[in-house]
Amino acid sequence: AASTVKLAEIDPSKLSVTKTTTPKDLLPPEELVFGRSFTDHMLSLEWTASDGWLQPRITPYQNLSLDPATCVFHYAFECFEGMKAYIDSKGQVRLFRPDKNMIRLNKSSARIALPTFDGEALTHLIGELVKLDKRFIPTQRGYSLYIRPTMIGTQRTLGVGPPGSALLYVIASPVGPYYPTGFKAVSLEATDYAVRAWPGGVGDKKLGANYAPCIVPQMQAASRGFHQNLWLFGEEEYITEVGTMNLFVAMKNKETGQNELLTAPLDGTILEGVTRDSVLALARERLQPKGWMVTERKVTMKELADAADEGRMLEVFGAGTAAVVSPVRRICWRDRLVECGLDDHSEAGPVAQQMKDWIEGIQHGDEEGHPWR
Ligand code: PMP
Repeated sequence: AASTVKLAEIDPSKLSVTKTTTPKDLLPPEELVFGRSFTDHMLSLEWTASDGWLQPRITPYQNLSLDPATCVFHYAFECFEGMKAYIDSKGQVRLFRPDKNMIRLNKSSARIALPTFDGEALTHLIGELVKLDKRFIPTQRGYSLYIRPTMIGTQRTLGVGPPGSALLYVIASPVGPYYPTGFKAVSLEATDYAVRAWPGGVGDKKLGANYAPCIVPQMQAASRGFHQNLWLFGEEEYITEVGTMNLFVAMKNKETGQNELLTAPLDGTILEGVTRDSVLALARERLQPKGWMVTERKVTMKELADAADEGRMLEVFGAGTAAVVSPVRRICWRDRLVECGLDDHSEAGPVAQQMKDWIEGIQHGDEEGHPWR
């Protein structure tokens, strides 16, 4: 019978807004560091198993107060999203593809027994928060407001079970361009001793618990002089993701000699990146008609090395909300360096550059009426 109870959906019309009485000073845009400073307000919604979603509230940005036995601290009942708002040339605020983030947050929360919600209602509420804190979004190109929806289990219990209460909150941080002085290609170390995700696992969900174990391999790569690590999977050494980005490879197809843009398929071992989806859609719409093949399939590290050896490698880049695209210069794999198609004085290949220009243009509203705005 419990499953037939219709829980209260989020009701945006019940939103209560308490404005801050101590507005923060704005930092000069060049001093913004990713995720360090936050806007004046936050959005919060509590949920209980008996009553569903309670009244949404916008309040001054503030600490949470939680009992030390709260289940999030013990069993990692936490999931989150990362999305951005931009100011367009007309001074309006735009969210980029928020529907995708809402779908992904619902999948993440459902997987760890946290409640699901109406994504359109939450998007509307995020819009209210962003409009209220609009003065924090620098208007210059490349600047944006990084938005962090977060859901935690709040039941006070050490018992391992589905949380009887949850908190969904949204905070926002003004951010500058990932590459303030233009692209800077990164070098990667292929990690072969640790695995980020596996079939049947939760690597395709945005759970906080997926991220903490990735820091030590990242630190090890850094200690050997690499910017990021590349996650491989299985004996075949399939390339999956780079740091916290999806990975794209452009190479000449071995059989046909055609240009081909490749990325790993959504088989449960990679995150369904919104940027990945955007790059694929743009490649199919705008590169395929120019003779490119666009392929989602498993690619091994050996294939990549062969393409480099045979002069078929064009370029490699990561794709994610923070940087949009991040070009890769070389990958350290076993005891060799695989060069990824950039010559010494170039920091990005043409596909990476083109994708960044297209996506940023859409984000800032240059393409009138684009459905992703
Ligand atoms: N993979 C992982 C593991 C990530 O954390 C992210 C960042 N959310 C991505 C890929 C890129 O996803 P998106 O394009 O949605 O930012």
